[in-house]
Amino acid sequence: MRSITRIELQYAHRFYKFKGEAQYLHGHTGVLTIEVEDTVNPGVNMVFPCNEIQKTAWDVLKNFDHALILREDDPLLPAILDVYARQGIKDGAPTNQMKGAAFKTELATAYPDCRLVVTKETMTVEGMIKIVYELLKDKLNIARLTFTSGVNAATQEYTPSGTVDRCPLCGIALVDGVCPKCGYQKRG
Ligand SMILES: [Zn+2]
Ligand SMILES: [Zn+2]
Repeated sequence: MRSITRIELQYAHRFYKFKGEAQYLHGHTGVLTIEVEDTVNPGVNMVFPCNEIQKTAWDVLKNFDHALILREDDPLLPAILDVYARQGIKDGAPTNQMKGAAFKTELATAYPDCRLVVTKETMTVEGMIKIVYELLKDKLNIARLTFTSGVNAATQEYTPSGTVDRCPLCGIALVDGVCPKCGYQKRG
């Protein structure tokens, strides 16, 4: 069965060299739907607690929220970094606190200090799904990702590998047989 959760992300981007209005900088509220598949954990009668899926995902994905997302070859990138540097906010500001853990994958690099994500490919809804899967595939048993932004939407199915050992009391994944939340220890 599947546990399904949604996350909202507000971001600015543009499609560099795209011959439509999206070549201009603009913003969206994007909605990411994460479907996690596994057996139903009989202890809690859940596949996985949705608030825990959100927590795991949000830890890295908050880097996309209230952020600017630009392709690595976009000339806006050095121009904006130059303005941020001259303004003294390139390496952080006291009000910039909602920072996720910095990450770097094949497809995207996050710079939480200046709320910027630099991507290898254009950040379409399809591109976002590829980026999110790279970031979360080792943390969650992802069966499907859907991303919508304005009138655009894309979805991709995945085959989750195996089952995760979960706490029968709180439902979250055990680490070396121990629940990081309540301390439950798996026997044998
Ligand atoms: Zn757009
Ligand atoms: Zn527990």
